[in-house]
Amino acid sequence: MVINNPVPTDSAEVLLGKSLPELTAWVQAQGQPAYRGKQLQQWIYQQGVRSLAEISVLPKAWRAEQANVALGRSTLHHRSVAPDKTRKYLLRLTDGMLIETVGIPTAKRLTVCVSSQVGCPMACDFCATGKGGFRRNLAVHEIVDQVLTVQNDFERRVSNVVFMGMGEPLLNIPAVVAALRVLNQEVGIGQRSLTVSTVGLPDRIREFAEHRLQVTFAVSLHASNQADREQLIPSARHYKLPQLLADCREYVEITGRRVSFEYILLAGFNDRPQDAIALAKLLRGFQSHINLIPYNPIDEADYQRPTPAQLQAFRDILEQSKLATSVRQSRGLAADAACGQLRASQLAS
Ligand code: SAH
Repeated sequence: MVINNPVPTDSAEVLLGKSLPELTAWVQAQGQPAYRGKQLQQWIYQQGVRSLAEISVLPKAWRAEQANVALGRSTLHHRSVAPDKTRKYLLRLTDGMLIETVGIPTAKRLTVCVSSQVGCPMACDFCATGKGGFRRNLAVHEIVDQVLTVQNDFERRVSNVVFMGMGEPLLNIPAVVAALRVLNQEVGIGQRSLTVSTVGLPDRIREFAEHRLQVTFAVSLHASNQADREQLIPSARHYKLPQLLADCREYVEITGRRVSFEYILLAGFNDRPQDAIALAKLLRGFQSHINLIPYNPIDEADYQRPTPAQLQAFRDILEQSKLATSVRQSRGLAADAACGQLRASQLAS
């Protein structure tokens, strides 16, 4: 399926983020033959070049003329590697802002965890990004660049992308949808291997659903009742659980795809047997999948991570209720690269 969505026009023109038809139109407007569009597509998205000057198949004179055209790549500010081989990148954008991206390798996959915003305005109580405040939305090319940066660094094809880095993707729908289209069409990653994770916002789930993508959609539920959810996620005050779940059902109807629910496990807070029973009741009959995320400690919060036995007990109750569950491995923990630990202590440098 082709994802059709206009690329937002509010950023200075850069080539990264353009589709093959757009690149072709761009070269033709410069008086070049159409096939040069295909060459740009290959070199920008497959080879991962950082400037037009590097595209040696293009005529030298024309490359020199286009010296001012930006591709839209970030620069590497810092990289750290965890013992489990997860790599965390601090990338500098053209305005000096810094964002974090994580590359998570396994034998079969290379997953990139991308940011959709610089910082995040949602201020979830357990998340380091939320403690650091919000700067701005990312542009399409700034999202796609993160994937290419990790692909180049690992010298290996990226198989999966999860929008679980900094930011709330549904506050930046036009750029996120356009980036998903580019990752699917130009970079060549299957839609089902692209995951968008959201805390859920009124009307935004429907807006996103109406793009009718076949990507994986995950909702950060984190609680089985309204009071607990409000304590963890301030914005939940304006978005009650019954409405959130109704919107998720509508998402399933519109897209034909099931919804995943993420549930962070905070020891003694929402990981008790009665919480699992309440969660099973809440999601009974819902075409869903529950991804349990043991809390990754951050300095600014004093929640505790559950023990493996607590985690297993919680999971058993859900499975006895016939709910499909999985447990997210905490990759990158030792390099502060795991879920919720992305902070970019200085968002601008
Ligand atoms: N704003 C989006 C995506 C970013 S976070 C969202 O809320 O879904 C991706 C996932 O990591 C979310 O489920 C988030 O709740 C979870 N997360 C945040 N902080 C965490 C922490 N300290 N430990 C474990 N998971 C965390």
